[in-house]
Amino acid sequence: MKKILFAASEAVPFVKTGGLADVVGSLPYAFDPSEWDVRVVLPAYTSISPIYREKMKDVTHFMTWFNGRDRYVGIRELFFRGVHYYFIDNEEYYGGAGPYTDYTYDIEKFTFFSHAVLAILPNIGFQPDIIHCHDWHSGLIPVYLKTRYADQDFYRNIKTIFTIHNLKFQGVCDRQYLMDISGLPGELFGSGPLCSGGCGNMMQGALVFSDAVTTVSKSYAEEIKTREYGEGLDWLLRAVSGHFYGIVNGIDETVFDPAADPSLKVHYSLSNLKSGKAASKKALQQELGLREEKDSFLLGIVSRLTDQKGLDLIIPLLDKLTAPPFQLVVLGTGEYRYEMIFRQYAEARPDRIRALAYYDEALSHRIYAGCDAFLMPSRFEPCGLGQLIALRFGTLPIVRATGGLKDTVRSFDKSGRDATGFVFEDYDVGGLNWGIDYALDTFRNHKDDWNRLVRNAMKEDFSWQSSAREYAALYQKLLG
Ligand code: ADP
Repeated sequence: MKKILFAASEAVPFVKTGGLADVVGSLPYAFDPSEWDVRVVLPAYTSISPIYREKMKDVTHFMTWFNGRDRYVGIRELFFRGVHYYFIDNEEYYGGAGPYTDYTYDIEKFTFFSHAVLAILPNIGFQPDIIHCHDWHSGLIPVYLKTRYADQDFYRNIKTIFTIHNLKFQGVCDRQYLMDISGLPGELFGSGPLCSGGCGNMMQGALVFSDAVTTVSKSYAEEIKTREYGEGLDWLLRAVSGHFYGIVNGIDETVFDPAADPSLKVHYSLSNLKSGKAASKKALQQELGLREEKDSFLLGIVSRLTDQKGLDLIIPLLDKLTAPPFQLVVLGTGEYRYEMIFRQYAEARPDRIRALAYYDEALSHRIYAGCDAFLMPSRFEPCGLGQLIALRFGTLPIVRATGGLKDTVRSFDKSGRDATGFVFEDYDVGGLNWGIDYALDTFRNHKDDWNRLVRNAMKEDFSWQSSAREYAALYQKLLG
């Protein structure tokens, strides 16, 4: 049995702010348990629901020297749906209202996390063959492992994989600050692996010290080797390209299942698609106070409201998208200017747009189910889960051809295979407008095509099976 430890800052159902949580909370279940013992380690945020916190068992605790003094490390454990989860307890660091607080303090919190993950290993009776680190929060694990722990027998043979879920966020901070809190040797800073453009950079360290690097779609893997998408690290990604792979994300098809989802009022599958989708749309219009029109073209957005997600393309089209035949639902938080503008439109045109600036998992499922089409015109997109979930619910994505969106949504005219959505190329308002008009025309004037696309979408396989096979092959390769 090969032993893998996932280290991350988020995993459903314990803590989620974005797609990272979906991945870390679902991928471990996709491996053959007779071959792979995949476990997960997370911070024990006090914001995790008491439903789970109360079930966690205390394994042990100890003190560790970190950033100038002795710090408490508690280890808690929960066996959940067949997977072992470990939680690193330290209320000083993980006691806030959510997983992330102030960015500078987050650097310290997650440096401590990386430090503590390695420190707990001898205490939990689990010596992983591979530590699979996810995003910059666990980026210093490969660095500590190959420096501080390099000559310790227990750690010597542990391999590391680092997965980039979003290259934009690298754990960049003041160099001296990172050197002080991490306690890592000075030569790693200066012009060393932990320093980029005069700043400390945790992800850069991870890319240098990991045995393999992955990201979450093949197109994004290619894109980020270019200057345009490389966020200053394209040179390094080109340099490690011999062990850098793109493996597309899946979704947990039991969690996102229109036939059985407990969050839905109406259930449907391919066998009752037409009536089920119509009833879901009506239920959503009712729930959100939108005018109940069966022929309106109901668009959904479930997203962080940031530039990455193409909001700057959507805003200029809001006059159009909040007038007949359109209706629009926006569930998302993020930049204040975006929240405000959606709110203003919602106040002015309450029968046509509803804007909800909070996080609500169950409502998001009803939006995915009840809308006709899903807007995701991202500037860049490592993989994107929103479009995968929309496809699963038979809600056709309108997306820009970038990263994982390009790899997972097929347009009418781009491929030999039949389409599953609407894909536009150029990142500009005209491109998005074209995609929306194309979708609307199909919806209104080519109903048979529309219905066929919806069926295609729902039949797509975005389960984790094939991606988990790719990860397993990579693990196997590292282990020789
Ligand atoms: P990212 O990780 O870049 O934010 P993804 O598309 O990969 O984007 O994943 C976003 C995930 O977060 C999806 O599961 C989406 O449904 C969910 N999500 C985003 N905003 C909200 C919200 N306000 N309420 C509920 N779910 C949300």
